[in-house]
Amino acid sequence: MTTNENQNQNQQNKQSHLFSNYARWPLAIVRGEGHYVWDEQGKKYLDFVSGIAVTSLGHVPPAVKARVQAQLDTLWHSSNLFQHPLQEQLAVELCALSGGLDRVLFVNSGAEANEAAIKLVRRYMHSIRGQKERYEIITFEQSFHGRTLATLTATGQAKVKDGFAPLPEGFVTVPYQDMEALKQAITPGTAAIMLELVQGEGGVNPADADWIKQVKELCGQHDLLLVIDEVQTGIGRTGTWFAYQQYDILPDIVTIAKGLGSGFPVGAIMAREYLAEAFSAGTHGTTFGGNPLAMAAGLGTLETIRDQEILDQVQRTGTYFMQKLSELKQHSPLVKDIRGKGLLIGVAMAMPVARVIELAREKGVLLLSAGTNVLRILPPLTVTTQEIDHAVGVLASVLEEVQKEAESNIAGGSEEVKSPVR
Ligand code: PLP
Repeated sequence: MTTNENQNQNQQNKQSHLFSNYARWPLAIVRGEGHYVWDEQGKKYLDFVSGIAVTSLGHVPPAVKARVQAQLDTLWHSSNLFQHPLQEQLAVELCALSGGLDRVLFVNSGAEANEAAIKLVRRYMHSIRGQKERYEIITFEQSFHGRTLATLTATGQAKVKDGFAPLPEGFVTVPYQDMEALKQAITPGTAAIMLELVQGEGGVNPADADWIKQVKELCGQHDLLLVIDEVQTGIGRTGTWFAYQQYDILPDIVTIAKGLGSGFPVGAIMAREYLAEAFSAGTHGTTFGGNPLAMAAGLGTLETIRDQEILDQVQRTGTYFMQKLSELKQHSPLVKDIRGKGLLIGVAMAMPVARVIELAREKGVLLLSAGTNVLRILPPLTVTTQEIDHAVGVLASVLEEVQKEAESNIAGGSEEVKSPVR
């Protein structure tokens, strides 16, 4: 958010009855269809935010809509007191796609899935292994795992923890991709290593394949569980069902959420059977988790990705998008790095990206940030090359404009374009 936008927001906050915990952009989206959304004035935007990696099939995807609509006429909620055929069905599909995980527990969000993963690690060591002293989880700098007390403690970003002490114990954070630091952090109390294969919120940082191979070996040597947070990367975002499938590993625990419900809130924790047993009846639960409407959305999402061969599309369009951005980088000194996997793409810039996001929005393209200096691009998985060309064209003209603003600011004696971001 730029300085002007911040001032406007402060004004709006004074009039609102909502908490002011979100730095919202000055735009209300009231309708979405396919790859586009419309604001209250009827202005149309190409949506490359996708609700932060959620509406992966575009807005109101027909097969998902049909499933949810049919479910709306049948049953909205029964509770986890009862059997759930739709949970069983979605769990069977997810396990088959995972290549080796056998059990699924449905929840409502990414943080809730990670909270469950943390609890499962502790409970497994405590109750199945009888190793009560082993509860420590090693996580990484720049990671993001959620906003509950345990998941924000696991998160490797100080700003997320500020003011929430005392935090739960049992977490150690080391630099990402630093093998020595990781080895040194392991103690007899270590139970698990938890990581994102592409750090999303932390700047779009993909893990190196060799490092992940070594992490997996280290887990084997020290009898540690490997927890992979696929909340942002999972369900096709990187070009495979799960990002770990590109690293040739099978984690012990995987968490998913965002893209699973095409916009319907749903999350899940997936694990091997021997681990899942640690959550015996009564040890963990949720009222809404695995709700029939969420299950219908999840089934419709998987069916669409499979039927339309969307994973192949993501691999092709992801490569195309990266190429186009690399060409842009050659012409713009403001672009420092292009990185990512599939359609989770980061453009690291020499300056805060808030102004770039603002100008792109004015030109009808929605983009977001990952930290202060990284532009994050999350198009629908069904994005076309024409839409990519259009967005890259808009970005090129925005960068020219920002460059000119920066030059005129310097000529006029003021500092470079500075603006706070979300
Ligand atoms: N884990 C990762 C990798 C995420 O990107 C996010 C959200 O951005 C979360 C966990 C938290 O998910 P939620 O916001 O659904 O609680």
